[in-house]
Amino acid sequence: MIYIFLGPPGSGKGTQAKKLAVKLNVPHVAVGDMLREAVNKESEIGKQVKSFMEEGKLVPDEVTIKLTEERLKKDDCKNGLILDGFPRSAKQALALDLILDGKNFKVIYFYVSLEAVVERNSGRLSCKCGAVFHIKYNPSKREDICDKCGEKLYQRNDDNPEVIRNRYKVYEESTRPLIEFYEKKNRLVKIEAEGSIDDVYKRLLEVIDK
Ligand code: AMP
Repeated sequence: MIYIFLGPPGSGKGTQAKKLAVKLNVPHVAVGDMLREAVNKESEIGKQVKSFMEEGKLVPDEVTIKLTEERLKKDDCKNGLILDGFPRSAKQALALDLILDGKNFKVIYFYVSLEAVVERNSGRLSCKCGAVFHIKYNPSKREDICDKCGEKLYQRNDDNPEVIRNRYKVYEESTRPLIEFYEKKNRLVKIEAEGSIDDVYKRLLEVIDK
């Protein structure tokens, strides 16, 4: 099964996607992570998208569509995957229909309040290895040090209150309409994403095909 995780930035979909991907033994395809990697490597794509990401804007559709299409073609995606952070616009949703080409998929929509979004994003600490912590809800064992690889944790450039609000605004304008789009196609399952990581994970498991 292909699961598409939809929700505002800070809804916890990345955290849940990582847990579920391990359980289902499928890849977690996070478009934001791929873009950040490109920026860190200073690749051509990285140079194109850096300023959009720093301002909390969507990077151009052409870039994310191509990146996602190439990633989804890889062998490891053959037996299912979790797609996190794509689609984020109507154009991306239409492109994804073509990429999936009739394959079965389910969209899981994580809903949370704006207050929770700001609190979760502003307390988030990330690691280069992909691990993510939260100073209050999911602290690392040693302050500012990654539990998984021992590297120093950092705050993402776009996790400051001003950019977080902008990302939420962009979500409301461009991504929220996709909820109705997938509802009409009978693909949408909603999950209340407030509460602890374990509470949300339990709700998630209830809607995953057994
Ligand atoms: P995320 O890690 O999912 O919070 O994404 C971080 C940033 O990457 C977003 O604020 C956008 O600038 C960019 N981004 C990630 N996914 C997409 C997408 N599907 N379309 C456009 N921009 C994206």
